[in-house]
Amino acid sequence: MIQKKAAFRLPAGTPTTGPANEPAGENDEEPPGTSSGLAKVLTISPLECRRRSTAPVLPTALRQHCACVPLRTTAFRRNFFPGSTDKDWSDWRWQIRNRIRSLEQLEKILNLSDAERQGVEMLGAKLPVGITPYYMSLLARDAPDQPLRRTVVPTVHEFRQMPGEADDPLDEDRQSPVPGLVHRYPDRVLLLVLDFCSTYCRYCTRSRIVGHGGFHPSTARLERAIDYIRSTPGIRDVLLSGGDPLTLNDERLDWLLGRLRQIPHVEIIRIGTKIPAVLPQRITPKLVRTLRKHHPVWMSLHFTHPAECTPDAYRACNRLANAGIPLGSQTVLLKGINDNIDTMKALVHHLLRMRVRPYYLYQCDPISGSGHFRTPVEKGLELIRGLRGFTSGYAVPTYVIDAPGGGGKIPLMPDYVLGRSEGSLLLRNYEGRTFRYPDAEMP
Ligand code: SF4
Repeated sequence: MIQKKAAFRLPAGTPTTGPANEPAGENDEEPPGTSSGLAKVLTISPLECRRRSTAPVLPTALRQHCACVPLRTTAFRRNFFPGSTDKDWSDWRWQIRNRIRSLEQLEKILNLSDAERQGVEMLGAKLPVGITPYYMSLLARDAPDQPLRRTVVPTVHEFRQMPGEADDPLDEDRQSPVPGLVHRYPDRVLLLVLDFCSTYCRYCTRSRIVGHGGFHPSTARLERAIDYIRSTPGIRDVLLSGGDPLTLNDERLDWLLGRLRQIPHVEIIRIGTKIPAVLPQRITPKLVRTLRKHHPVWMSLHFTHPAECTPDAYRACNRLANAGIPLGSQTVLLKGINDNIDTMKALVHHLLRMRVRPYYLYQCDPISGSGHFRTPVEKGLELIRGLRGFTSGYAVPTYVIDAPGGGGKIPLMPDYVLGRSEGSLLLRNYEGRTFRYPDAEMP
């Protein structure tokens, strides 16, 4: 454990474009009554909490909050950011300025395995390290296999290229009519607003661009994309992604949403973000006021594991839901991280309590160096079989493969239709029992 007098300094070259020019703490008070949707706290001892947090798979019992999460966060802050105040910690710009980005910083906080140390040393021009102090406080110091730690700390396995892997497996670059705009489906586009995220996921599909500083949210680039959308009347749905669009400051976001809203054929705007999981401090009352000006705004949140569903994450989702923003979650299926039914069920149950609909479960894309994260497709089907019928229908995401080569999302379902016989459909239910349905003739 290190004892430092002041917060980490920003390493040279740290991007600061995201959180610019918003006064600290402004209007960040919780409006009355907004915490009413927070989930019940399950109290377990600090010792038990430490034991569980180092387990590779979160026990089923942690479906409720662990009361120790805030205690662990406080202890983490005292140890590694002793000069910081409550106000600093809850300020998203402070969190971004103090991200953990170097081997030296990682080594002060975690006992790194050889595979992790080598991974960080070899990174070079690959997806950089970036972890908010908040998210870092959720990592286990001595357990390289802890699920959350594996999602954000590089390992040497990222340098092993497996057959079929590619830097741009979804062929997004080929489907971009203007830089940073992917037009794959007829009525919707994906706008890569910037390449900056507060925390970098080691399995990121866009690791070829994210964190490399090549996609700035400049007016000139964004106006080109907006021009394309304006001149293409078939586009009714714009998905903002990146990088993480919520790392833009409120004024910039307001400008971008406003420009898109001026286009009559844009019916909905969606924002893809991992912010509630990695930087919940960003979801301020001022941000949600900005977003709700531009309704209908939908959000796809990126939650990976139930341990991300902390009281802070609950509060963030609560604010978004109270602003009338429909929330869905996109979860990537990851080997050894969320590929068992107890963990997945705990996650989707948390999400429903957070008013987030589990939307997609993604088969991990075959990006270069992702072999250690990818499961067989049968594992995803097994998880869907383990959810469907055994829990609320709203808790069951659609399992999809994003087809390599740019074919789009293809849904995968366990085989519930066994065949046809004498004008009937032969079906299997969630318990494995078979039933006949008298099917109508096709006209
Ligand atoms: S938040 Fe999204 S864009 Fe950013 S690193 Fe993670 S997966 Fe990639």
